[in-house]
Amino acid sequence: MLDVTSVGTPAALGEPCVLLKLGEVVLKGKNREQFERRLQSNIRAALKDCGVRVDVRQRHGVIAVFLPAGTALESAQAVAQRVADVPGLVWVHLAHRVEKDPDAVTKAALALVESRLATGEGPRLPRFAVRSRRRDKRFPLRSNELDRMVGGEINDVFGLPVDLSHPELTVHIEVDRDEVFVFTDGLPGQGGLPVGVSGRALVLMSGGIDSPVAAYRMMRRGLRVDFLHFSGIPFTTTESIYKAYALVRSLDRFQGRSRLWVVPFGKAQQSIRASGQDRLAVITQRRLMLKTAEEVARRIRAGALVTGDSLGQVSSQTLQNITAQDHAVDMPVLRPLIGLDKIEIMAEARRIGTLGISELPDEDCCTLLAPRRAETRAKIEDLKQIERRLDAEDLAVQLADSLQEYKLDA
Ligand code: ATP
Ligand code: MG
Repeated sequence: MLDVTSVGTPAALGEPCVLLKLGEVVLKGKNREQFERRLQSNIRAALKDCGVRVDVRQRHGVIAVFLPAGTALESAQAVAQRVADVPGLVWVHLAHRVEKDPDAVTKAALALVESRLATGEGPRLPRFAVRSRRRDKRFPLRSNELDRMVGGEINDVFGLPVDLSHPELTVHIEVDRDEVFVFTDGLPGQGGLPVGVSGRALVLMSGGIDSPVAAYRMMRRGLRVDFLHFSGIPFTTTESIYKAYALVRSLDRFQGRSRLWVVPFGKAQQSIRASGQDRLAVITQRRLMLKTAEEVARRIRAGALVTGDSLGQVSSQTLQNITAQDHAVDMPVLRPLIGLDKIEIMAEARRIGTLGISELPDEDCCTLLAPRRAETRAKIEDLKQIERRLDAEDLAVQLADSLQEYKLDA
């Protein structure tokens, strides 16, 4: 049996670092390197202000974030928390780096188990498993030998029962090129693809629950997104802008460098109302929003529009009305929430931290145009007729000209 006098001392644990497991990036063939580079630069950008100088390294199938010698465990935990927001990662582990020596690995594993038991969380004697991987095949022990050796020690020292199929505590050991990483469970990442690999899109961002979730979903598919909000100004207060701003700030942790664009839309809405087509007012307004958004998207070089529409949720979201909206523009309109129901959308909004902001009261510009009965089967010819009278194409360009950018302060 191992000398346990040194077990549990922080020294046996080795230096903390953060180990990142990649998601779909690993499925990419020829583009893989490009995806990995983008992911690494997104990780560096996310950690720019974390107060610790990090060294991000690509290893075989994982990314290691090395921290300066002597970094406190709390700082390493903060790095892990921050990086867990970066799309493209499935797991984030706070790991410990130890020498490539079986004895050092065992000591670190024992120290890790001891510190876990000391937290008092979970069962007093958790059923455990050791899972080893050898990325460097020159290491003297094979992974199953390492599992058995380290597992045997943990069992001897702490009396924990082994359970390989449903462990309550898993000790991971990964033998790498220059060191061995030892860690227990981690934080789940966001999954998906690194922001930027799919290009840029413009999200139509209301102050509601759905559009922030739609934005999140598209960032996770590799799109960098800009945000466009239509305010009812000059006929409403600036409340809805503050809300949109707060939502964008909250979502910014997934991509960084977010931009919010605001169009004062009140006068255009007034013209729509004045056109007298009560039942078609909402769809006419939606089409004008999309036309304006398309014009803005061209100017900022975005290749698609994103909305929070969900099929059938409100009258503007029937199949006919969605079709009528798609006909207003040439650019693709992405609707990632189309098949989700409100409960699912709300659960995701809660998880990503936007629900509380969305539920704050505001004066949405859409309430300016709340007809007694909205058309659920708008005909494109009728809409075009209204638009000819409104001169909608010119109006969209004018609206795009009135665009204001709201910069996010640090
Ligand atoms: P949300 O919760 O996102 O507001 P909703 O269920 O209220 O959605 P609608 O109000 O019909 O649905 O809006 C559908 C979509 O149209 C929104 O998800 C958003 O993408 C876009 N949209 C609506 N109002 C605005 C606005 N004021 N500014 C920008 N986009 C808007
Ligand atoms: Mg809304």
